[in-house]
Amino acid sequence: MITPEQHERLTALRRELHAHPELSGKESHTAERISALLARLKPDDLLTQVGGTGVMALFDSGKPGPTRLFRCELDALPITEVNTFEYRSSVDGVSHKCGHDGHMTILYGLAEELAAQRPTAGKVWLLFQPAEENGEGAKAVMADERMQAIVPDRVYALHNLPGVPRGQVLLREGSFNASVNSIIVAFNGRTSHAAEPEHGIDPALAMCAFFQQALALNRNDVSDPGMRVVSSVYAELGSKDHGISAGKAEMHLTIRCWTDEELTRLQQELEGIARTLGDQHQLGVEISYTQRFHANQNDAAMVAMVREAAKRAGLSAVEAVHPYKWGEDFGLFTAAYPGCMVGLGAGTDMPALHNPDYDFPDAITPHGIALFHALAQMN
Ligand SMILES: [Zn+2]
Ligand SMILES: [Zn+2]
Repeated sequence: MITPEQHERLTALRRELHAHPELSGKESHTAERISALLARLKPDDLLTQVGGTGVMALFDSGKPGPTRLFRCELDALPITEVNTFEYRSSVDGVSHKCGHDGHMTILYGLAEELAAQRPTAGKVWLLFQPAEENGEGAKAVMADERMQAIVPDRVYALHNLPGVPRGQVLLREGSFNASVNSIIVAFNGRTSHAAEPEHGIDPALAMCAFFQQALALNRNDVSDPGMRVVSSVYAELGSKDHGISAGKAEMHLTIRCWTDEELTRLQQELEGIARTLGDQHQLGVEISYTQRFHANQNDAAMVAMVREAAKRAGLSAVEAVHPYKWGEDFGLFTAAYPGCMVGLGAGTDMPALHNPDYDFPDAITPHGIALFHALAQMN
């Protein structure tokens, strides 16, 4: 367990990170700050610019044993903070609204513990991953040959969970969170003089029909294994030139299901709707995808290990009844290595993730460190 003095220092670090947020893929100052702090702990290896701005530190027992990897995220969000406390974001329109400042602090706290006493067997890698929020970071880190050379036996990550009592550990075998993708459908028609729409091809009706049919595919029920959440996020039609009838429409939707397989079926249905409407209205159809997150699949043995670690850390662990609906690019890691994504209760009396008034509760930092430290000591 960390000392009160250590908790105070870590709280100051968390607030410093909070005051200086950086967007996905642009976390260079955050990464420098973290790697400078890690360097002082004299890890057995320290890698920078992993998959972009990523930082990795190794603590090696020098003895055979499992290679464990703990991952946190470096990035903040394009959200304007409404909090007025002293350490509020100093960057306009950018703030840590997912608690990644807290996750980094937990991993750095774990580094201090491991620097004071190396694991008893095997290795521990700590990964400070870039660009989680846009789904690019895990992919980029895994494509880095230095990451490929590591081949962890166990991978772990945690996410703080507002709405859950502070320090409570939430576990789940199988899917921990949703498989998410974003679809962009463009209808290409032809502009004409607004006085003569008969000479053009206006995609407006096809656009309306697309939204109606796409949103009708919603089965937004977390207790349904076939859950489907279809959300419209953005649309564009024509231009603001009032002499021209619209010639182009673009629709952005985010879709999510519990499994990658169900998501693939949903994508096929949406593509079918778009192509049928395109044919009916003589429109060209372009379909693309962005911000893909694979569902986290928690390995049963890893879940059992986290349950035991929670017990050793004096934390209560409960089963999550349903997976969570948000996407998490740690799913790429659990698809490649046995692993577990864990929820850590952030308190019932606080704003939700990505709310403009959200702030990571420093009170749970010691719980996160204790849980990960117990896992790092299990051989
Ligand atoms: Zn987030
Ligand atoms: Zn997050």
